[in-house]
Amino acid sequence: MKLPERAAIIDAAAIAHNVGTIAEYVRPAKVLAAVKADGYGHGLLTAARAALHGGADWLGVAHIAEALQLRAHGIEAPVLAWLHTHEADFAAAIEAHIDLGASGWELEPIAEAANTLHEPARVHLKVDTGLGRNGATMTDWPELVRRAAGYQNRGLISVEGIFTHMAVADEPDRRETDEQLDAFRQALAIAEEHGVVPDLRHVANTPAALSRPDAHFDMVRVGVGVYGHSPFADRSGPSLGLKPAMELRTTVANVKSVPAGQGISYGLTHRVEAPTKLGLIPLGYADGIPRIAVGAPVLIRGRRYCSAGRVAMDQFVVDLGADSDVQVGDEVVVFGGESGIEASEWGTAAGTINYEIVTRIGARVPRVVINAEPVP
Ligand SMILES: *Cc1c(COP(=O)(O)O)cnc(C)c1O
Repeated sequence: MKLPERAAIIDAAAIAHNVGTIAEYVRPAKVLAAVKADGYGHGLLTAARAALHGGADWLGVAHIAEALQLRAHGIEAPVLAWLHTHEADFAAAIEAHIDLGASGWELEPIAEAANTLHEPARVHLKVDTGLGRNGATMTDWPELVRRAAGYQNRGLISVEGIFTHMAVADEPDRRETDEQLDAFRQALAIAEEHGVVPDLRHVANTPAALSRPDAHFDMVRVGVGVYGHSPFADRSGPSLGLKPAMELRTTVANVKSVPAGQGISYGLTHRVEAPTKLGLIPLGYADGIPRIAVGAPVLIRGRRYCSAGRVAMDQFVVDLGADSDVQVGDEVVVFGGESGIEASEWGTAAGTINYEIVTRIGARVPRVVINAEPVP
């Protein structure tokens, strides 16, 4: 296969495998695969189709626009969209049978759109059990549930789910997770008092799905694990039975010998101590390689080399050592594939996490999908 000069190779079979692995962890709970943000950078449709093939019951996105894109491409599986603004097109979502998260203000415009369309909206009520982001506070929850029950009785909405989102599940020993689960159970009891008892109670993100069976309820909402990455600082994806689904690769664009003291890249923040060879890697921050990554690894000819100096818009430099046999044109794997380099290593080098590394790989890097099932 002739690859583009730069490519993010997306292994659809790995995505399907990861969904299957997570489904086994959480059985009998259902699996919602989060495919927001262009499938965490892997491609919205690639991720959605592979996740469904792997056994995902639901797909999850942040925005209605993302959900509509799935529908526009013929994906009929249940989809939940959970982050809205006043500009959100609730009517289009209802017509496309997209489930809607609602934390408070959304309920009225959703019910209004449903009223106009003469079609009930499918709603998942969100409670904030501690994350402090979206979701009704525990104080506002009884009122949200009361309003939802009212709309449900009028046939304008159907409450399909109740959910919340975890704050610290990636650190399994923290007690705040227990507090959130207690609050969630309390919220369910309050909803029940108002006659709101939906089939889908869902809480767990990837870390909670993998470390807290008591957070599984009826469904888990998993993202980073679907793409083969670990949400835990001290665990790798493969050690959890997951296969990283993105391999970022290019080829060496230049090799040259330089004397001791040669500075590297803007700001000359790094100088080589001894004569060496420098390899030029044609990927930069425009492609999603963080500018501040320091000493991050790449694999060339089966050996690891580290980035040196600042990452520029289009390129960065690795110190190959004086005796290197690396040639222009040699393949470079930045992470993934058979390299053994995890996106989390780039995350650590850049003061961020694997989630951000894969999600921000830029539009200039073509996605090359392998091992995909044929689209029917
Ligand atoms: C992104 C997201 C998820 C998935 O989180 P991961 O940590 O990637 O598994 C689950 N639920 C909500 C509400 C999200 O925004």
